[in-house]
Amino acid sequence: MKDYLLHLFRNIRISDLFDVAVISVLSYFVLIWLKKTASRFVFFGIIILGLIYSVARFFHMYMTEYVLQGFFAVLFVAMLIIFQEDLRRFFEHLAIWRPFKKNPRSVIPDVKALSSAVISLAQKRYGALIILKGKDYLNRHLEGGNILNGTISSAILESIFDPHSSGHDGAVIIEEGKISKFGCHLPLSTNSKKVMNLGLRHTAALGLAERCDALCIVVSEELGSISIARNANITRLKNQNDLKDVLEEFQSSGNPPEVKRWPRWLRENPWEKGVALLLGCTLWITFGFQTETIRRDFVIPIEYRNLPVDWIIENQEPKETTVALMGSKQAFDLLRKEDTPKLIVDMSNIREGKQEIVLSRNTVEHSSNLTVVGIQPGKLSLTAHQTAPVDVPIKVDTIGKLPQELVLKKIEVRPEYVKITAKKKSKRDIQVRTEPIDLASIKETTKITPRLLLPPTMEFTEKKIPLVTVTIIVEDTSITPG
Ligand code: ATP
Ligand code: MG
Repeated sequence: MKDYLLHLFRNIRISDLFDVAVISVLSYFVLIWLKKTASRFVFFGIIILGLIYSVARFFHMYMTEYVLQGFFAVLFVAMLIIFQEDLRRFFEHLAIWRPFKKNPRSVIPDVKALSSAVISLAQKRYGALIILKGKDYLNRHLEGGNILNGTISSAILESIFDPHSSGHDGAVIIEEGKISKFGCHLPLSTNSKKVMNLGLRHTAALGLAERCDALCIVVSEELGSISIARNANITRLKNQNDLKDVLEEFQSSGNPPEVKRWPRWLRENPWEKGVALLLGCTLWITFGFQTETIRRDFVIPIEYRNLPVDWIIENQEPKETTVALMGSKQAFDLLRKEDTPKLIVDMSNIREGKQEIVLSRNTVEHSSNLTVVGIQPGKLSLTAHQTAPVDVPIKVDTIGKLPQELVLKKIEVRPEYVKITAKKKSKRDIQVRTEPIDLASIKETTKITPRLLLPPTMEFTEKKIPLVTVTIIVEDTSITPG
């Protein structure tokens, strides 16, 4: 796990960060949308089906897989129908989205005057429905109505909602600081739980508040109460004087004052942002990252570093190891020949005799954007010996017999000793032999320079192989002296 994370951090590219950012932003919008809409149950339903489908695929449950596959094809069309209202709103938002330009909510010129006008309607028990436009499009939710474009005043509102006036039915729309329309018909809410005890006027206010960010003020004809419908909720004001605060808050939430240190888009919904970022990272790790990561095995010889010159290594097992590296495909593609991994064992702490050395990941030298994920085998066994230079006698090896008439007088070797480096522990009884000299080919006293044969694991102390001269001194008995 540690290696994996390490590998992950080492291999992150700028484009991966963008990848995570895009997914996080998308997740954020989905979360916000889920929070706002009642469609979340449908959405969770789809997620659960998706999970069942994944499980079915994994365990090869053909029947379930087959049925769900067909279902998903239909689901796409069903989704468009189920979420048509949300999709419409989403595209509307997209169309009017200005990331760096403020899109101020239309300002009500005199909040105090409007609130006292509404309170006065309530006192007179005039049923009224007043809509303050937010940032969302409003017109497509409205039906009918008469255009007015009049200044907001108590007198106008009272004459509109006077039960004797012909235009008192329906809603008044306030946008751009003016009464733009009156007598508008609003969509009704279909949330049966919420509208159970509500009359039509209140249901219409809730219906609009479910579809856009408008603020709807309802004055009840029966009760003389004032209710506020906003963000898919309707509440009755306990104190009618609170209306002014509600209106002011609505204004300022649309046009936040500049004093705040962080812009609103940074401050709002921190929880959803956190979850979205987590989602983005998780999705990237499970899908984005893995697909790009590959593992490759290299069979490489074991090399030594810092092996003191007077030490020799015997019986090394194994001779080579398989090193598994992990990294992005690009990292492997960019690997040059001289970058192929090397396994180098540090020998500065070598000791005499048989020993095992663990081949840790540090022993592998490799390109920095790859990670070692395995070394097989993970152990090296060897025998180490310290050596020392020693003078050993040269023994001349002969084969065959001298011709009959010749008698061997002496075999001289020059030099008689040669310096070789041998294990400290086995200094005694070492000999260096010459390659066999065939006596049968000797016709007279002869000088030969035979090769020297070294016992295994020993070497000449000097770099140059020493030259030895062997003189085979013979006497020819067929020649009578004198
Ligand atoms: P109140 O407390 O004032 O009686 P209520 O919620 O009980 O309100 P109703 O008694 O049904 O509602 O009031 C009906 C009035 O509501 C209608 O006369 C009309 O003015 C208004 N109204 C009904 N439906 C809509 C609609 N879809 N859009 C706008 N206004 C509507
Ligand atoms: Mg009623």
